[in-house]
Amino acid sequence: MLENKYLQKVYGTVVKRNPGEPEFLQAAREVLESLEPLLAIRPEYEQSGVIEAFVEPERFISFRVPWYDDSGRLQINRGYRVQFNSAIGPYKGGLRFHPTVCPSVIKFLGFEQILKNSLTSLPIGGGKGGADFDPKGKSDAEVMRFCQSFMTELYRHIGQFTDVPAGDIGVGGREIGYLFGQYRRITGRSESGALTGKGLSFGGSLVRPEATGYGLCYFVQEMLHGMKQESFKDKTVVISGSGNVAIYACEKATALGARVVAMCDSAGFIHDPEGIKLDVIKEIKLDRRGRISEYTDQVPSAQSSPCNSDIWNVKCDIALPCATQNELDEKATETLVKNGVIAVAEGANMPCTLGATEIFLKAGVLFGPAKAANAGGVAVSALEMSQNAQRLSWSFDEVDAKLLGIMRGIFSSSYDASKTCGRPGNLVVGANVAGFIKVADAMISQGF
Ligand code: NDP
Repeated sequence: MLENKYLQKVYGTVVKRNPGEPEFLQAAREVLESLEPLLAIRPEYEQSGVIEAFVEPERFISFRVPWYDDSGRLQINRGYRVQFNSAIGPYKGGLRFHPTVCPSVIKFLGFEQILKNSLTSLPIGGGKGGADFDPKGKSDAEVMRFCQSFMTELYRHIGQFTDVPAGDIGVGGREIGYLFGQYRRITGRSESGALTGKGLSFGGSLVRPEATGYGLCYFVQEMLHGMKQESFKDKTVVISGSGNVAIYACEKATALGARVVAMCDSAGFIHDPEGIKLDVIKEIKLDRRGRISEYTDQVPSAQSSPCNSDIWNVKCDIALPCATQNELDEKATETLVKNGVIAVAEGANMPCTLGATEIFLKAGVLFGPAKAANAGGVAVSALEMSQNAQRLSWSFDEVDAKLLGIMRGIFSSSYDASKTCGRPGNLVVGANVAGFIKVADAMISQGF
């Protein structure tokens, strides 16, 4: 509930300016609620008007993407880039290719990205982009033609000092390669710092594919240890999704001593009480882009079900939603709490509804919000930019050690801010406040 009159007014303006954008309003509301306890101790953020500027994107770009399919027919998609906030560095945030992409989704992701990037302590602002294009079922040649057309428009808005896109849902190494190739051809510059998530042979960083999933587990490890003197050892874990984030979260949670017993994709979930065999998942999802239900053909101990949301009925100690927004609702949350879950951390962006988050916090479940828990991906993207600028490549262990340090820092700054605001242990408030203060101070110092 928003009780502060000033913040109610700010939210009212956001509602008026962004009609029909439920995801963006949900994200804005959560952040404004978190700023209530901050305003009680730091009234200058109200007096300066910085919050009103903070909720309005600096720039929102939308463009036509024409491309030819394999039968020679013209197809049209719509592309977007929101350049939300550049107070602490160039806009930075991924590109999502998915049929559900629309201004609301791009704006919610870009808004959250500002705070996430600030939490990493690296000098990067917030942006996000994408298109309502579905790479599923398209040939490599079709994906290439789409990416080239998308970049033919986007290139004029990006660059190592302005805006640095990366991957997200539907945009992996293959798409980044095609996008980067087109950027290089159009500009005539080998400007590796203009995109991250690149292949290793043309400026990519080791650990980037693993970074979000590994970082999520490093964050959970800190949260379990710092708030409950617990660890991953011998815990049962459920992870939704079976894409980039979910796969590497599964790998790291297993390495830290946990047993991951369920994963899903958009067509169903699998339950393997003996522990997920990740090599089988990688072969199905990464090598063949197949359906997760095929797991049961190879692993007799597992069962599959076509209803992916039932994954939350599987009893677990730790739940890591790593698929998509609003995938974990109030009903699923109640089941998880009843089944004794002790920690939940968001690998995906905004996978828990506002109601679900409230239930977890009220029940005393440790809760790691996305902008803190999944910041490892963008953190290593920023490390990729540093390596590109120095024309150096760091070893796997060097990057992994830096990632661990960054995730520890994010946990401690979020936890400390939760205490400063009188909401000890509420990392939703803590992460929003810690991320906000740095950006807001930079905006005020620079006259917005
Ligand atoms: P991928 O495209 O690699 O994987 C997404 C996974 O989620 C797939 O397994 C997909 O299934 C599944 N999925 C999609 N929609 C649903 C649904 N409605 N129900 C169940 N499963 C679903 O994406 P990423 O792993 O990269 O991203 C996942 C989330 O993490 C997103 O919210 C993204 O914004 C966030 N994130 C990603 C980062 C990164 O570095 N990649 C960084 C920070 C956040 P299917 O295979 O059937 O499509």
